[in-house]
Amino acid sequence: MPASSETIKVVVRARPLNSKEKSENRSSIIDIHEEDKQVVIKDPSGMDKPFTFDHVFSATTKQDFFYEECCYSLVESALAGYNGTIFAYGQTGCGKTHTMQGLSSPDELRGVIPRSFDHIFEAIRIAEGMEFLVRCSYLEIYNEDIRDLLGKDPNKKLELKEDPNKGVYTKDLTCTVVSNEEMINEVMEKGLKERTVAATAMNDTSSRSHAIFTIWVEVSEVVEGKEMFRVGKLNLVDLAGSERQKKTGASGDRLKEGAKINLSLSALGNVISVLADGKSGKHIPYRDSKLTRLLQDSLGGNTKTLMMAAISPADYNFDETMSTLRYANRAK
Ligand code: ADP
Ligand code: MG
Repeated sequence: MPASSETIKVVVRARPLNSKEKSENRSSIIDIHEEDKQVVIKDPSGMDKPFTFDHVFSATTKQDFFYEECCYSLVESALAGYNGTIFAYGQTGCGKTHTMQGLSSPDELRGVIPRSFDHIFEAIRIAEGMEFLVRCSYLEIYNEDIRDLLGKDPNKKLELKEDPNKGVYTKDLTCTVVSNEEMINEVMEKGLKERTVAATAMNDTSSRSHAIFTIWVEVSEVVEGKEMFRVGKLNLVDLAGSERQKKTGASGDRLKEGAKINLSLSALGNVISVLADGKSGKHIPYRDSKLTRLLQDSLGGNTKTLMMAAISPADYNFDETMSTLRYANRAK
């Protein structure tokens, strides 16, 4: 089994200053040194604080480059029968969805999720002597409740169950068989639409929910007269915004909501931090949140994880950016 430092990769990607920030003459407090894999943030007193990661990406990074550098090998592993997860973490508005989803056109703006579809089905087309079955699901965790973005009733709360053979699974979750890029894209679009409907009705829940697109790739192959069978699973996760709730003036229900989201994000941070430590025998607190329970079989052990931390370069985001860099730094 490879060392844990190879199975968990942590990278940072900065977005550009947006037009509003430019018009307000906001300054950038972030320097990205790609060759040194270093992000340097300037604190309000002008002091430089450096952080080193497995990779750092500046605001000019193209989607295809990000995919090739960070995601290609992880998706290859899923095709080879291993489980893997790609997380996008960070403050709302810093590029989580841009990285995971991107835009459907022009082509070069497509994100990790649609690129992984092309990758998987291209690999299947060129593979010889193997049979494939690809299935996918799309769910959202909001307030520690699980909703099926592909289900007949998306408001129904799904339960997590545990089975000696299946491990942890989501009961009644829609799992759709897809046989090409067009089909899986349609499934994704359906789920995205459901997310948007809910977000509009409930005051932008999308920034406060975790969206998990999962792809199972089953392969059967006859080796020396014997049928071999393997399943890889790829989880593509657009996490809830990591910002502190007080900044948005939340109270009552909203505050509770914020606290729960932070519970899932901090539980994930704790799990990844224990895994990244690489000390065997240490308790891994998977059970502390729905997110970590659900992803238990794809975190640690023989799996690959990519944590992409999205950051803003703007001076007024200093506190949130610092908190994102610290979170990502713990996961190394
Ligand atoms: P989040 O999902 O983290 O809330 P988004 O991905 O929606 O943030 O990004 C907010 C805005 O910034 C979007 O308009 C997006 O297109 C833009 N943006 C984010 N990251 C980048 C990037 N790396 N390059 C160009 N634009 C970006
Ligand atoms: Mg988003």
